Amino acid sequence: MDIRDYKGQWPDTGHDFSDTIMHECICGSNLWRVIVSFEEYEIATYATDMECLECGTRAKAPTPIDKPGYKPESLAF
Ligand SMILES: [Zn+2]
Repeated sequence: MDIRDYKGQWPDTGHDFSDTIMHECICGSNLWRVIVSFEEYEIATYATDMECLECGTRAKAPTPIDKPGYKPESLAF
């Protein structure tokens, strides 16, 4: 089984929370389909549009700057 075969256990709800940052979906799943790129064997960038793997609900991926109290690291030149 791979990602092409995966069908969520919940019916596709079609809910759209595209403007809402979520870590966990309204169905309880914390697995998302996200477009990513890789560098040196790690995730380098990711799109903030995502879709719940279980039910298809759309939401916005969290990023470090969304975290309360976020302070940018100082740049070393
Ligand atoms: Zn869901």
